[in-house]
Amino acid sequence: MLTRTNQKNKDELSILGFGCMRFPQKGTGIDEARSIAMIRSAIEQGVNYFDTAYFYHGGKSESLLGDALSGGYRERVKVATKLPPFMVSKLEGAKKIFDNQCTKLQTNYIDYYLLHMLTDKATLDRMISIGVMDWLEQLKKEGTIHNIGFSFHGGKADFEQIISAYPWDFCQIQYNYLDENNQATKSGLQLAASLGIPVIVMEPLRGGKLVNNLPDDVVKAFKSSDAKRTPAEWALRWIWNHPEVSVILSGMGDEQQLAENIAIASNATANSLSKEELDVFEKVKKIMLERTKVPCTACGYCMPCPHGVNIPGCFASYNDKYLLNTKNNRLNYMQTQGVMSKKPSYASLCTECGKCELHCPQNISIRKELKQVKKELEGPLFKPVVAVARKIMKVK
Ligand code: SF4
Ligand code: SF4
Repeated sequence: MLTRTNQKNKDELSILGFGCMRFPQKGTGIDEARSIAMIRSAIEQGVNYFDTAYFYHGGKSESLLGDALSGGYRERVKVATKLPPFMVSKLEGAKKIFDNQCTKLQTNYIDYYLLHMLTDKATLDRMISIGVMDWLEQLKKEGTIHNIGFSFHGGKADFEQIISAYPWDFCQIQYNYLDENNQATKSGLQLAASLGIPVIVMEPLRGGKLVNNLPDDVVKAFKSSDAKRTPAEWALRWIWNHPEVSVILSGMGDEQQLAENIAIASNATANSLSKEELDVFEKVKKIMLERTKVPCTACGYCMPCPHGVNIPGCFASYNDKYLLNTKNNRLNYMQTQGVMSKKPSYASLCTECGKCELHCPQNISIRKELKQVKKELEGPLFKPVVAVARKIMKVK
C-alpha cells in the first residue's frame, strides 16, 4: 500500500481510504460479520483512513466501524466522520451529534472531522454564527478533533469561496475523469493544493457508474490500449496520477473490490501515466462529449446567476442522465443543487432574465435547456416535496 504525506500534519495516509457508505448487505441491513472482516483485512493490508458520516447506512455505519475498530485496531487508523450542518440549528444540537458519534465509534477523539456536504459559503457563515466553528477549534485544542475539514458537492465558485474563507486542515471533493470540469473541478483541486490543504477524493467511480454503466464505445477505447486494465483501474489511476490528491475513498462493497483496489494502490504513483495512457482518456472524454446533451464545458462564464441557479451544475446532472445508465439521477441532482442548503441552485429558480446567455462561449440556449432540466429532473412534485423537507429540517 502506497502512502502520501499530509503536508499539514505529516500523517502518512494510505492512498486508498475505506468509504464506509457501501458495506455488504444482508437482507435489508449491513452484513456485519463480512463488513467487520473486510475492514480488519483492509487494515492488515495497509489501509489506514476510514471515512464515515452521521447518517451513512441510516446511522449504522459509525456503529459498525466502531465495532470493527475495537480490540486494538482504532489506534492503527485515522477515522474521519462528518457533522451534517443541515441538521444543526443550534450549537447544542451539534454537540449532541458529536457525543453520539464518539459513542458509536467507541472513541474519544476523531482524527478528521468534516462539515458534511457544505455546498455554499452561507452555510459556513451560519455554522460560524451559531458558534460551531469556535467549538470545533476548542475541541481541536483539547485534542478531541485533530483536523477540521469539509466535504463538498456544489459548484466551482462556491468551492473557491469556501476553501478561501477558513483555515481548513483538509477538504473532500468529488473528482474523477468525468468530473474534471464539474463540481470543485481540477482548478479547485489545484487551488486547494496551492493553499497547502490536503484533498481527499470521493466518488472516484461515481458510485460504480464508471464501472458498470459505461457506453460500449468507451469500454472499447480502454481496451484499445496496450495497458490491460479494468475500467475501475483506469479510473483510479487517473486520479492517483494527480499529485494534489492525498487519499481516494472507495466505498467497497465486497471482498473482490477490496482486493482489486488494494492491488492497484500498491503501485499507483503520481505522474505515472504515460502519454499513450493519457491519450486514452482524451479518446474516452471525446466519446462522452459526443453523447452529451448540452455542450457545457463548465467554464463558469455565465455565473453567477442573479437568482442562484448553478447553471453548469444543472447541465452536468442533465448530461449524466443521458451519458450513464443510472437510476439515481433525480437524487443526485437534488444533492448537487443543494435543495436543503440556504442557497439552493436548481433549474426552476431561473426567471429567464437571459443575462447568462450573453456570456456563454458555447452559445448555449441556457434558458431553453434549463427548462428541459426542470422538466426531466424536477417534475411537478419537486417544489412541494422540497418545501416540506426544508420545513421539517427548519432550513430558512
Ligand atoms: S436566465 Fe435564468 S439562469 Fe440565466 S442568469 Fe437569468 S435567472 Fe439565471
Ligand atoms: S458559460 Fe456556457 S459553457 Fe460556460 S458554464 Fe455557462 S453554460 Fe456552460
